[in-house]
Amino acid sequence: MIKSNVKMILNEIPSTVEVLAATKTIGCDRIIEAISAGIKIIGENYVQEAERKYEVIKGGVNWHLIGHLQKNKVKRAVRIFDVIQTLDSSELAYLINRECQHLDKIMPVMIEVNIAKESQKTGILPGDLETFIDEIVKFKNISFIGLMAMGPILDNLEAIRPYFRTAKQLFCRIRDIYGEKGEWKYLSMGMSDTYRIAIEEGANIVRIGTAIFGPRR
Ligand SMILES: *Cc1c(COP(=O)(O)O)cnc(C)c1O
Repeated sequence: MIKSNVKMILNEIPSTVEVLAATKTIGCDRIIEAISAGIKIIGENYVQEAERKYEVIKGGVNWHLIGHLQKNKVKRAVRIFDVIQTLDSSELAYLINRECQHLDKIMPVMIEVNIAKESQKTGILPGDLETFIDEIVKFKNISFIGLMAMGPILDNLEAIRPYFRTAKQLFCRIRDIYGEKGEWKYLSMGMSDTYRIAIEEGANIVRIGTAIFGPRR
């Protein structure tokens, strides 16, 4: 099932869009099956869970952090993740930068934006984005590569489209201002039920769990 799900999704989407397999709670055997079917990026939500799986799976695939990063986990996160998609505070940027200085490494980071301005969600509010970037561009061991957006949960899937459109507009605006700094090129949005809409609205990384692995237990 996993193999055919991956193949179907890869066949269906444009080759310019990358599929991240969201692997929280999924065991290594099934993740390896997805990788052998063509998945090149896996996304984990928790540092500890990722470390456990990294022991088994290791390189050959790109590891992205897609869950909120706690400050006391930064040191461990920068060792295993190739990309941190969830930068949401300047304090976190400071800590990531400091740990990467020690490792002599430049960490590609995406800024998480709270596109629907939901109070219970992490992420930078759209209106605060430019100020936030002004604060963090000074960190030389971080490369800012794009935006990550979590849409609101809505009954009517189409209702998410305007939020994705807003995210794309923010993405382009920042590219116009800061484009020459770093490698600003990724817009990560869309999940199992919304990735088609997200791609239509400009996503070039989609994060898919259920549609690859089935429902999580
Ligand atoms: C779990 C998760 C996904 C994937 O969700 P599905 O609905 O299972 O596709 C995407 N992004 C984040 C941040 C997640 O935690």
